[in-house]
Amino acid sequence: MTNLYDLLRQHFPADGHRTALETPDGQRMRYADLETGSGRIARLLMDCGVEPGDRVAAQIEKSPEALLLYLAVLRCGAVYLPLNTAYKGAEVAYFLSDAEPRVLVCTPENEAVLGDAARKTGVGSLLTLGEAGNGSLVERSRGLDPQVGIVARDGDDLAAILYTSGTTGRSKGAMLSHANLGSNSLTLRDYWGFTGDDVLIHALPIFHTHGLFVATHCALLSGSRMLFLNRFDADAVLDLMPRATVLMGVPTFYTRLLQNPALTKESTRQMRLFISGSAPLLADTFEAFEARTGHAILERYGMTETTMITSNPLVGKRIAGTVGFALPSIDVRIADEEGRPLPQGEVGVLEVKGPNVFRGYWRQPEKTATEFRSDGFFVTGDVAMIDEGGYIHIVGRAKDLIISGGFNVYPKEIELCIDQIEGVQESAVIGVPHPDFGEAVVAVVKRGGGQPEVTAEAIQAAAKAELANFKVPKKVFFVDELPRNTMGKIQKNLLRDRFKDSFSSAA
Ligand code: AMP
Repeated sequence: MTNLYDLLRQHFPADGHRTALETPDGQRMRYADLETGSGRIARLLMDCGVEPGDRVAAQIEKSPEALLLYLAVLRCGAVYLPLNTAYKGAEVAYFLSDAEPRVLVCTPENEAVLGDAARKTGVGSLLTLGEAGNGSLVERSRGLDPQVGIVARDGDDLAAILYTSGTTGRSKGAMLSHANLGSNSLTLRDYWGFTGDDVLIHALPIFHTHGLFVATHCALLSGSRMLFLNRFDADAVLDLMPRATVLMGVPTFYTRLLQNPALTKESTRQMRLFISGSAPLLADTFEAFEARTGHAILERYGMTETTMITSNPLVGKRIAGTVGFALPSIDVRIADEEGRPLPQGEVGVLEVKGPNVFRGYWRQPEKTATEFRSDGFFVTGDVAMIDEGGYIHIVGRAKDLIISGGFNVYPKEIELCIDQIEGVQESAVIGVPHPDFGEAVVAVVKRGGGQPEVTAEAIQAAAKAELANFKVPKKVFFVDELPRNTMGKIQKNLLRDRFKDSFSSAA
């Protein structure tokens, strides 16, 4: 029996009265409630005709009931397909036609608009779940018998399909198996030292690998307690810290916490671990957080297709600007464009092999084949380097590489240089079309206050003092905010589009 739900349940505390999660408004679910609640929903899904291998799609707000739905889908041996709440009707319609789910769960507010798309794409049943736990999913499952067996699954059977953010072309469905998720979750629980005494502040969305798998599984596999917030709010998180031990977040959580004067050594005294991932954590943020609280944020790295790949150590030095070491039983190499391993210290594409690596893209065997090497390594598309201490540095996405006048330019190197300049808060360096150079280096900068305001000329002069001429930004633009997606990643595709005409003859 390798059903992931069974693995989780085996680690639930023997005392079912122990709290699994609680919300700030006083809602509490014990481990026993996770079992009965997910059992009832599993029963409802089976009544709706859900069979092993069927997809169950959900575009719902975060709530304890949403977590029960995920567990229920696993119990039925079906495949969970969570959708980002930001997707609009036409986008959801595409996912429905691509994944052909048996059931769609949406918010009561979206029922009318998505109902239409669901009918057109042949979805068998439409259920609703609101943020307050309202809607037909809970109403119809309320009286049902929770004693539902766990459907036996093979390790390679699918547990979930997560659509990637799709900044180039259509978003692809990454197929994750029970074994992928189970192995990675056990590794993380042990690597980060989770025990039943931990209390995790869970303020991440649960449609993404970070909040749904990394955070939730670490807690459930150690029988610990989650403080479940529907969204991140610095005041609310700080209020909870005296009762918590671990926070998992994206870098924006940490920059927002730093803006709050209530973040102090005293307010974080109870915490044992702060974890960051899903986007690069600036060294400045790491250092400011350590200076203010005495805690060194533990940065880790992974992606939807592979779950977690590397982590800074729990015991031992956590180094700012690095993502640490490959996790146990995961092989990582830095390779050239043909997949040939490069010597330590050289920059190349990070490739990974291990039980964590996904089963491929849903109904896209050709696309899947192009992303794997013949020896089984998956090409992540992240550009990285391993330093002499063995720590891995993520330099950026391969597709963000700039080729200017035939030279390769890695944006991260220039961003690090610009971010140190007085009066700069953060920067994003991109390549835009240029009539002579093919692409030109452009910096988009968010100022960080200070008088007089930092100028484009000052930034170019500082870059020129440190970097080869071809890396110096040909233009510098100032913005109030850099565009970010919900997981805190800077959307360079939007910036490239906005500034694409900077060097056209009309510009
Ligand atoms: P997603 O599939 O949405 O989880 O995005 C995965 C991508 O996020 C990776 O391929 C990296 O480009 C980026 N990423 C995740 N964690 C980190 C990190 N700690 N530092 C730098 N980039 C990261």
